[in-house]
Amino acid sequence: MKARIALSSSRASLKLDKEIFLNTNNSISNFENDLEVYYNNKRKVVALNSGTAAIHLALILAGIEKNDLVICQSFTFVASVNPILYLGASPVFIDSEKDTWNMCPLALEESIKELLLNGKKPKAIIVVHLYGMPAKIEELLAISLKYDIKLVEDAAEALGATYKGQKCGTFGDFGIISFNGNKIISTSGGGALVCKTKKEKNKAIFLATQARDEAAHYQHSQLGYNYRMSNILASIGRGQLEVLDDHVRLRRDMHHFYQELFKNSKGITVFTEHSKDYFSNHWLSCIVVDDSITGFTRDDIRIKLSEENIETRPLWKPMHMQPVFNHASYYGNNIAENLFKKGLCLPSGSNLTEKDKNRISTAIKSFLS
Ligand SMILES: *Cc1c(COP(=O)(O)O)cnc(C)c1O
Repeated sequence: MKARIALSSSRASLKLDKEIFLNTNNSISNFENDLEVYYNNKRKVVALNSGTAAIHLALILAGIEKNDLVICQSFTFVASVNPILYLGASPVFIDSEKDTWNMCPLALEESIKELLLNGKKPKAIIVVHLYGMPAKIEELLAISLKYDIKLVEDAAEALGATYKGQKCGTFGDFGIISFNGNKIISTSGGGALVCKTKKEKNKAIFLATQARDEAAHYQHSQLGYNYRMSNILASIGRGQLEVLDDHVRLRRDMHHFYQELFKNSKGITVFTEHSKDYFSNHWLSCIVVDDSITGFTRDDIRIKLSEENIETRPLWKPMHMQPVFNHASYYGNNIAENLFKKGLCLPSGSNLTEKDKNRISTAIKSFLS
């Protein structure tokens, strides 16, 4: 049996912060400081134990309460949405547009107008930069400002991605990133909240550490959470941040590899930036297979590669199609549904070797011929 080629594994070179062996007490604030420098000191950062926790805290800071409505991109991983339900609020799902596969600004505005007509103003918008591709963030931000609705950017998959040179996660009121094992850099598990003010940062740290009031004894007047990142993982994060650019380069190289591989294949499109304003980290390389042209489906490719022990996976199943959210409303057409039907994620990890690439290209070429 050939060794497994996985969808999104990270390069093994895990560089630890030297301090880890001496004193890990300050690693968390040092890591936050490194991230703030990464964001050109224009944002405050709170290191947490997951990206999901970061979304939860962003929604609390945005003032989301029970029975509120929160607008969310439908085409995403379930973690973007679950925190809405943790708070007893309800999601309203929005379709994607075909250039970036992210939230469609037209469908967003249509939903807001209709909700306002019904006397129900949504309290926040969660936009996702899926697969590392920046959303049409300028247009989405303009809508959030026009209607005075808070904007949360889920940049869990988009660390290193930019729109017009500005980093994903720094456009809205809040951004979140993830350091989960499959992401572009990893602390094995972890995440961070990106916010604008010291006050928001302090509030997030307070909520993430069981909401302890100032007193000699343990005093609590609010509901808190155990969401803080550990110092050891923060120390790993500091080392990982140093290899971020390398990892982005390697992932973009994989994307280029697939562009070359499929360049003469009619009916197979490699997902790429539609304009120079967009710089994707190409966290995962994805293709769309139009079976009316190719004569075979994405599942035919998936099964063939699986026989070679090469992992691929259909694109995210939209949230408005998920049984757990079957009562939620949805605005849009069938862009995300179509992507789910026809799209496939290909092995994109930063640790893939030339040998792995040869295996992938041999398997795909033999399938295509
Ligand atoms: C990974 C991911 C998250 C959640 O991050 P965790 O650190 O795993 O909690 C949220 N949104 C998207 C789009 C993700 O891919």
